[in-house]
Amino acid sequence: MSEIRLSKSCIGAEEKTAVMRVLDKGFLGMGQEVMAFEEELSDFFNRPTVCVVNGTAALQLALEAADIGVGDEVLVQSLTYVASFQAISAAGAIPVACDVNLSTVGIDLDDAANKITSKTKAIMPVHYAGGVGDLEGVYDFSKKYGLRVIEDAAHAFGTMYKGSKVGNLGDIVCFSLDGIKNITSGEGGCIVTNDQSILDRVKDSRLLGVKKDSEKRFSGKRSWDPDVERQGWRYHMSDIMAAIGRVQLANFDYHKSQRQTLAKYYVKKLKEVDSISIFDHDYNDVVPHIFVIQLDPEIDRMKLIKFMSDKDIPVGIHYKPNHELSYFRNVNIESLKNTDLISGHLLTLPLHPEITEKNIDWIVSSLIMGIKNNA
Ligand SMILES: *Cc1c(COP(=O)(O)O)cnc(C)c1O
Repeated sequence: MSEIRLSKSCIGAEEKTAVMRVLDKGFLGMGQEVMAFEEELSDFFNRPTVCVVNGTAALQLALEAADIGVGDEVLVQSLTYVASFQAISAAGAIPVACDVNLSTVGIDLDDAANKITSKTKAIMPVHYAGGVGDLEGVYDFSKKYGLRVIEDAAHAFGTMYKGSKVGNLGDIVCFSLDGIKNITSGEGGCIVTNDQSILDRVKDSRLLGVKKDSEKRFSGKRSWDPDVERQGWRYHMSDIMAAIGRVQLANFDYHKSQRQTLAKYYVKKLKEVDSISIFDHDYNDVVPHIFVIQLDPEIDRMKLIKFMSDKDIPVGIHYKPNHELSYFRNVNIESLKNTDLISGHLLTLPLHPEITEKNIDWIVSSLIMGIKNNA
């Protein structure tokens, strides 16, 4: 059987042709391709979209554009990729580690409410594994406490929530287009919002804060008499990246249906397996970035990982909670009940568009064997 990968950048001939087209033009920076990609993403979300260099930068610039910075606190679940925490920290703000809800693995709003202070400015719900949890509850919460919402939708490109695409509704929604996410532009990220002041700020701050530089570059010009009013970064997307992303977006139906079909197949196979549980996602709506199972507490996870890897099946851990990392430990030393309960027992099984049902048969039968041999 061919090598099974935990995740994979699934790139075809069309992406290669698109990159060659850019290389042949002799212009690799931010120009016509990025402009076209932004227009196509705006059509996809039915909302204005700005592209940046990666998803972490998208979160950082979104926070800064919302005037969230030094001394401000942002509520975020501890059980997320460290990118969520680092983006908040990069904006100068403090990530306040919150617990998760056991059924949705989204932020626990009761715990978040306990952590509100006079410095709390925003909440960052993380759409863990592609599911959005109680997003309506998050927006009710944000209204009640007067907070901005910056959605970390890195896992949820294409996911539908109550009949709308994630990104189509809400305050500020950030996506990652990195190599293994639901679609990729190599590296990349984007910010989707209806808030014009956020859009204007982000367009300048991705290009070192040079005012109106985005429009100049899209029309093939530069500003030779620029003004800069605030700190900016070199966080723009390049035409090479956008060329890859445009093809991936055009073929999104393929990526989406593969991920959903494979996740449904996992669910069907895993339903019969004792000693594990699976999260309650409807894979007609959710486009899963990762497929995570929860092992019963008596299973030795590290031993199971070793068993699987001896069978050449890579499995993963998403994630070590951020409140356990040295850099973020001081932020919140309290224990997080649900996070502490489940985080040691989560296991990510291989998922990407090129996995086959035969692969999944083998992965699941190996998992069953591994659990039997675990004692
Ligand atoms: C991937 C990811 C990001 C950051 O995206 P990059 O494009 O890798 O910078 C942020 N949050 C979560 C939960 C992610 O998985």
